[in-house]
Amino acid sequence: MADESINNGFYEKKYKIVIGLEIHVELLTESKMFCSCSTKFGEKENSQICPVCFGMPGTLPVLNYEAIELGIKTALTLNCRIPSECIFVRKSYFYPDLPKNFQISQYSQPLASDGYLNVNNKKIGIRRVHLEEDTGKLIHSEKNENVSLIDFNRSGIPLMEIVTEPEISSPEEAEDFLLKLKKFLKYIEVSDCNMEEGSLRCDANISIKPHDSKELGIKTEIKNMNSFKSVRKALSFEANRHMHLLNENNKVRQETRLWDETSQTTDSMRIKEEAHDYRYFPEPDIPPVRISRDTVEKISLKIGELPSEREKRFFEQYNLSGYNVSVITSEKKLADYFEETASFYKEPKIVSNWLQTVLLGILKEKNISINTCPISPKNFAELIELVDLKKITATSGKEVLLEMFETGKTASEIVKDRQLVQIQDKDRIEELVIEVINENSSAVKDYKNGKEQAVSFLVGMVMKKSRGKADPVKTKEILLKKLL
Ligand code: ADP
Ligand code: MG
Ligand code: ZN
Repeated sequence: MADESINNGFYEKKYKIVIGLEIHVELLTESKMFCSCSTKFGEKENSQICPVCFGMPGTLPVLNYEAIELGIKTALTLNCRIPSECIFVRKSYFYPDLPKNFQISQYSQPLASDGYLNVNNKKIGIRRVHLEEDTGKLIHSEKNENVSLIDFNRSGIPLMEIVTEPEISSPEEAEDFLLKLKKFLKYIEVSDCNMEEGSLRCDANISIKPHDSKELGIKTEIKNMNSFKSVRKALSFEANRHMHLLNENNKVRQETRLWDETSQTTDSMRIKEEAHDYRYFPEPDIPPVRISRDTVEKISLKIGELPSEREKRFFEQYNLSGYNVSVITSEKKLADYFEETASFYKEPKIVSNWLQTVLLGILKEKNISINTCPISPKNFAELIELVDLKKITATSGKEVLLEMFETGKTASEIVKDRQLVQIQDKDRIEELVIEVINENSSAVKDYKNGKEQAVSFLVGMVMKKSRGKADPVKTKEILLKKLL
């Protein structure tokens, strides 16, 4: 099946794609779901375990309230119904990464249900949001294929499962759904959603049906994708496979399939003939969790404006482009930083530009997060104003910002100390231009021979001579006149 594209029209006219996603995210709690072990990623194997999360008989789990709170934050963000009581159950099965023979999870009374997420102006239903504990992690030895190791640091880390309705209608829409979900979960600081570190994992269910059919087709479930792009590609591959089968009057077999990144194909992992019998029963050691309206209200106040509302307001209030809004609202702290800066210097577009192209660049280079940015929004606003009112050039502005990082001084202090005030004086600029023309005769010749770029070079030389202080617009004007 060389042709991976599903957009060849023929199938699209005949069949409709139906996708539902099951997403697991590790919650950003300090400690595990039912014990006080640390959840920190990347520590030495089996260094963060205790009898509770190791599943020793006779131990008692104690519920981590923080996990419930993060679950409720998610439920609110996904517009879910949050019942006044939810129940933890034991899901019984054995696997080497789950030696205690059961996983504490939720089943018939989950934390939340019946929500939706708006993706490209389409509401995609959220069936449920529930909490459970993560399992250990199997590490298959590369040296000896008969050996597998188990790291239990992950077992007992709070895991949240989000299940969508089968309402996603293309692989691209599935990818957009995941991008939006990740953005929102990061914004409300529920999970870092890092797919490489396994803090977000996604299983994708897909089926195909003729457009006029009311019933859903037989689905396959795909696992083992390690990026959103792989989710999209795996779904494209599966959609195509189903459509080929149906088109040749064959049946799709209900099964779980694994995505193979190397061959870019899916392969059967196990056939699901009947539902697994997990013998769900209420976890006897954890009483039902009551969630009062008051609690929900308090958590809602903690989030403040929901990410979807904030996005909408940023469009309206600041008149920014979609791209800019999406970057600035990707993190709560970043959005706060922007709003505070824009309250000191009321030119939101200019503030947004400086924030995205300059400040974020420097932060990235220095590996600092916006949370610990040493420059206050007030001082940042002052710098932007100095540039915007042409007191200093944009080039100096960037230098000043770097110096603000190093020294903690304000922009106006640095501008004063270093005498950076922009040169606006025509006579002074003209002097510099004449010097540059005299010193760069070959560039001047190039220009006269029709090489337009030579002008930028000459403007650059004037800027250099003025140590970045000459007004570049005036410089170019004067230079062009002199070159006539
Ligand atoms: P299972 O019991 O196999 O886990 P569920 O009915 O619980 O199946 O649904 C799991 C996920 O599969 C949900 O996200 C749901 O939207 C999706 N799903 C269910 N049926 C279909 C189908 N026929 N086609 C595509 N997705 C489906
Ligand atoms: Mg399933
Ligand atoms: Zn523990």
